[in-house]
Amino acid sequence: MNKVKELQRKDLQYIWHPCSQMKDYEELPPIIVKKGDGVFIEDIEGKRYLDAVSSWWVNLFGHSNQRINDALYKQANQLEHVIFANFSHEPAIELCERLMKLVPKGLGKVFFADNGSSSIEVALKISFQYHYQTGKEKKKKFVALTDAYHGETIGALSMGGCDRYSQIFKPLLLDVERVDSPDCYRCKYGKCRDNCDAECFEHMEETVKENHEEISAVIIEPMVQGAGGIKIYSPKYLKKLRALCDKYDINLIADEIAMGMGRTGKMFACEHAGITPDLMTVSKGITAGYLPLALTIMTDKIYDAFYDDYTAGRSFIHSHSYSGNALACSVAVETLKIFEEDNVLQVNEEKAKVLRKIAEEKLLDIPQVGEYRQIGMVGAVELVQDKESKERFLWDERVGYQIYKIALEKGVLIRPMGDVVYFMPPYVINEEEIEFMIDVARESILEYFENRK
Ligand SMILES: *Cc1c(COP(=O)(O)O)cnc(C)c1O
Repeated sequence: MNKVKELQRKDLQYIWHPCSQMKDYEELPPIIVKKGDGVFIEDIEGKRYLDAVSSWWVNLFGHSNQRINDALYKQANQLEHVIFANFSHEPAIELCERLMKLVPKGLGKVFFADNGSSSIEVALKISFQYHYQTGKEKKKKFVALTDAYHGETIGALSMGGCDRYSQIFKPLLLDVERVDSPDCYRCKYGKCRDNCDAECFEHMEETVKENHEEISAVIIEPMVQGAGGIKIYSPKYLKKLRALCDKYDINLIADEIAMGMGRTGKMFACEHAGITPDLMTVSKGITAGYLPLALTIMTDKIYDAFYDDYTAGRSFIHSHSYSGNALACSVAVETLKIFEEDNVLQVNEEKAKVLRKIAEEKLLDIPQVGEYRQIGMVGAVELVQDKESKERFLWDERVGYQIYKIALEKGVLIRPMGDVVYFMPPYVINEEEIEFMIDVARESILEYFENRK
């Protein structure tokens, strides 16, 4: 048996892979990756794949980036980790100092977790406790959107509105007020996201008006619902939401885990609307795809409601073993330095134009492409049976998965969600690589539908 087959056999003997039906691995065994190099990953036989999804939205500056490698190596020789209660270290302090200059104005304090879902749990717990100790004990419910995604732990999963992840667990989940999310491709008001007035906000308004006395927070992915299908919506929705939350003393939790760190063209997606949330979660790109780290960032107003004598019982008693991990913090500091020194947001503005031009040129004429939408460095095509009626494919045809397999053969890792093929490449991608990525997407979509007839 050759080495690849042997490794694949052992992998499947021991490992349960995430978000997978393991039976699928019988026909598509795990690709054993040996190294990373910029936007490419390379398997042990030397086959290269362009990582068009930034390895689940985390990578920013390419795989095995020399600058980040060096920062990590240096930190490892200094201090790897230390208990974060009563102790601290320069990487954590420098990270927060740098971040405070970048986050929406008004945010002032950082709480550390070690993955996105956990930072959501932190935000929910802080919101509840904040109201509890400011005399609003009745506020213990959360409002979240359909097609929302906030992670996999029970609290975060409760906030999510994608049945694919949460359906089976419904009996375990928190009771959430669910509001229809903006659906700009299939807008019920006949508007379009670039010039609407966020008419769809009326669902949110009604729900909040009716239940505000019990509502602790509204949680939302600003500008783009990611795992729900890269659904981009108008910043007006966020402006209205900020005003509504202010009116009823409700916390606004902005989940920037996916779209923060520059993905949408701004450092944080909230900036498109010029709003400051009460709580904001950041993870994924914060370490440029190197190490797990997550932050829940909040206003001083929230923080101050917890600041008292120990015996007053207002402390936030929550911790994670790897809170404030020094290796992760040092990599995050280096990430922010790269943003600053390499003018990443500015450079990306040009790259985003190139991406849009090539994608529109090469994808819009495909009969099954209903829409190409893009914000910053995130682009998506929605595949439909029929452009007029916008009719969806049946879920069990697994259109996205079939296209994924064809594209893999051709050397590009796109990993569609349902019928949405999207591009969220590392920022170091160049024009030639963008062209290759889109060409392969085009060929793979065409090939699938040709053979389907
Ligand atoms: C990925 C993601 C999460 C969960 O983060 P994990 O680190 O995977 O737990 C939460 N919210 C959004 C918007 C995400 O994209």
